[in-house]
Amino acid sequence: MITLALSKGRIFEETLPLLKAAGIEVLDNPETSRKLILATNSPDVQVVLVRASDVPTYVQYGGADLGVAGRDVLIEHGLDGMYQPLDLNIARCRMSVAVRDDFDYAAAIKQGSRIRVATKYTQIARQHFADKGVHVDLIKLYGSMELAPLTGLADAIVDLVSTGNTLKANHLIEVEKVMEISSRLVVNQAALKLKREPLRRMIDAFAAAIPA
Ligand code: AMP
Repeated sequence: MITLALSKGRIFEETLPLLKAAGIEVLDNPETSRKLILATNSPDVQVVLVRASDVPTYVQYGGADLGVAGRDVLIEHGLDGMYQPLDLNIARCRMSVAVRDDFDYAAAIKQGSRIRVATKYTQIARQHFADKGVHVDLIKLYGSMELAPLTGLADAIVDLVSTGNTLKANHLIEVEKVMEISSRLVVNQAALKLKREPLRRMIDAFAAAIPA
């Protein structure tokens, strides 16, 4: 049995065409079913649905043989016990620094002031500001980061941006791009040795079907 860990939503939807290219069709729809283990048309392949930030944990410890997770999630978790053979070029967005539209970020940076930054992505944010030589106090949040600058909790946030609509709706502006994000395939290192042939076939089929 090969177990693939996916998260519901964009990653699940955008992985379906890649699975199809490998001859695999998922038989349940996660939006209507409450099942967490989804069968496929291949008796040897199943999909498990987990939180996006839990995908690397499942793959690292072998709860799943492989998984799809965002670059953001993988940097925050680390890659212990996993290979990352493919950038699948799906679920694309960017990680950015954003502030209230009336906050002068450039001036704050230039003055060398210490700024308060709220984020779920503390590893990425710490590295970004260290590279720029900007002094920051990081505040860890688990969601609704847009609220932090509006309530005075922080001067800035580091968050994922896709269309920019969420920032705009909350009177925030993007002032710096930290990195481009896309989702990657990760494979458990031991599984790749023990189940080499079927996993290689799946990886090769995914590789040939990656969107431009
Ligand atoms: P948008 O309004 O289109 O810029 O989307 C921003 C919101 O969607 C933020 O709350 C992000 O955390 C979330 N988001 C956007 N793209 C992604 C992605 N690829 N993966 C996870 N969350 C995302």
